Amino acid sequence: MLMSIAKTIVMPRDRIVGPTSDGPEEERFNYALRPQRFAQYVGQESLIRKLNIAVQAARSRKEPVDHVLLHGPPGLGKTTLAHVIANEVGAQVHVTNGPALTKGADLVGILTKLSFGDVLFIDEIHRLSAVVEEYLYPAMEDFKVDITLDQGAHARTMTIPIQPFTLVGATTRIGLLTGPMRGRFGISEHIEFYDPESLHQILKANAKLLKVEAEGPALWELARRSRGTPRIANRLLRRVRDFATVEGDGKVTLPITKSALELAAIDGQGLDDQDRQFLRTVIEVYGGGPVGIEAVAATMGEERDTLEDVIEPYLLQNAFVTRTRQGRRATKVAYEHLGLKWKPPQQQANGDGSLFDNANGAEGIGRGEEETREVAKNDRKDDRKPRGTR
Ligand code: ADP
Repeated sequence: MLMSIAKTIVMPRDRIVGPTSDGPEEERFNYALRPQRFAQYVGQESLIRKLNIAVQAARSRKEPVDHVLLHGPPGLGKTTLAHVIANEVGAQVHVTNGPALTKGADLVGILTKLSFGDVLFIDEIHRLSAVVEEYLYPAMEDFKVDITLDQGAHARTMTIPIQPFTLVGATTRIGLLTGPMRGRFGISEHIEFYDPESLHQILKANAKLLKVEAEGPALWELARRSRGTPRIANRLLRRVRDFATVEGDGKVTLPITKSALELAAIDGQGLDDQDRQFLRTVIEVYGGGPVGIEAVAATMGEERDTLEDVIEPYLLQNAFVTRTRQGRRATKVAYEHLGLKWKPPQQQANGDGSLFDNANGAEGIGRGEEETREVAKNDRKDDRKPRGTR
């Protein structure tokens, strides 16, 4: 069984419903479609309301907006929001990401170039190194950076003031952020998957912007199959537009949309090959679970982070899988979606012993333990005192 599954588990590199960017061409395309102001930003109503209040309050006090932390899966509009905040306050946005800032000097270089009220957007902020993080604390709190000159006995610390700014941090993994880092954000919000109505509104506006002639039912079909993610909705619109040009008369109709999505192997729920492989791995290799994420990743030949950040959130949100203390478990919805016969968990456990084999045998560790370890790691990180308070 393992062999036959392994053979089918060939990862499509060009993952059409993958919420991460496909590259510069897609970025250019998305850039043109990016909402510029709160009023144009579709969905996330409660988040937008809170941010709008923070922006208005800051403007009236002539202060920069509070630091904002946005957490949630990729492709939902975190970068877009950083630009919108900057536009609303009439400031510039400076974009970087955690892994790119390898040394304190990288960050200091950016911080000292900021003008009053500018927005510094740091994507994947959970991946900042401890050293860089410590430069960020006094910058966020007191708008200053402390740099050390010389070494050993001659070492001196020099404090450089910087312009008051707003840090917008984005992360797919709030759990990996240190306590001191999290505590320095005035606003910390989860960004949710979009409902089909919001995605339909986005698609309708974008079809108009791109001068694509699209029928209403076709846009609804796309909205339902975009995994709750605007970046995917935009990508599918582009694919269907191309398909309509080549296979039809350029008009995006429902049959054209369905054929284009079928060609891309995107099913009625918006799941692609990789999503289905995830479910098939849990069900066919691990008897429906519970199974640790490391074991699933190893079987699929995929990074654990990719599964956790990109694939799982949508499957969890739509109840295809659940997370238990022992590991991931496929639900009845998943079995039915794949056209497989559902076995209740009791039967799974008694039938083939998978409850124990999978939770502990394959990986030697259940999810509960993994999480405990992750928390323990963060607690250790949390012990680090911010610079200046030592
Ligand atoms: P993230 O930073 O969360 O990965 P992005 O901000 O890069 O996501 O969003 C990807 C693309 O999706 C944007 O360039 C934009 O075209 C589109 N988009 C995101 N959120 C919205 C929204 N609320 N309304 C309209 N388009 C959106």
